Amino acid sequence: MSVSKTNFSVITADITTLHVDAIVNAANSSLLGGGGVDGAIHRAAGPELLEACRKLKGCATGDAKATPGFRLPAKWIFHTVGPVWNGGKRGEDELLASCYRRCMELAAEHACSSVAFPAISTGVYRFPLERATQIAVRTVKEQMQNAPALDRVVFCCFNPQTYAAYRSLLD
Ligand code: ADP
Repeated sequence: MSVSKTNFSVITADITTLHVDAIVNAANSSLLGGGGVDGAIHRAAGPELLEACRKLKGCATGDAKATPGFRLPAKWIFHTVGPVWNGGKRGEDELLASCYRRCMELAAEHACSSVAFPAISTGVYRFPLERATQIAVRTVKEQMQNAPALDRVVFCCFNPQTYAAYRSLLD
């Protein structure tokens, strides 16, 4: 099976502005909103998002749950809960990989042709940036064969360090 048609891109942007089928939210386990990318997504999607999130009754670390995108250009939001970095011996790598894997599964379930990821856990959750971007790229590539409709994966960066880390992996 060919998996090489997928176009990976690395861009610097506010993820809420992207015209893709799904964006990923780096949420916390309550799914009731927070700072960083989560706050930006709730502000841009509108109050209906909080209502939809309430019905999901939270989300475990490493898991992901979907809602509509409401006022966003994206049709779907995949809310995933990354691990808080605690030194690396508490399963952080596997939990972060699980976030990317679950989002790829949701992309397949919702027949998405494009999905955009923020750098999950690398903000207030303090996951080391290079380690996180390696896990992101490796896991997304591994999962491509399970999402046959997907032809565009965007790694959406919000600062120059994140952009440089992804570029060095994908160039
Ligand atoms: P976490 O709690 O998982 O660490 P954060 O939201 O604090 O989540 O940070 C995750 C990443 O999202 C960081 O790289 C941060 O710079 C980035 N980020 C923050 N706001 C946005 C946004 N509007 N669009 C894209 N990425 C964003």
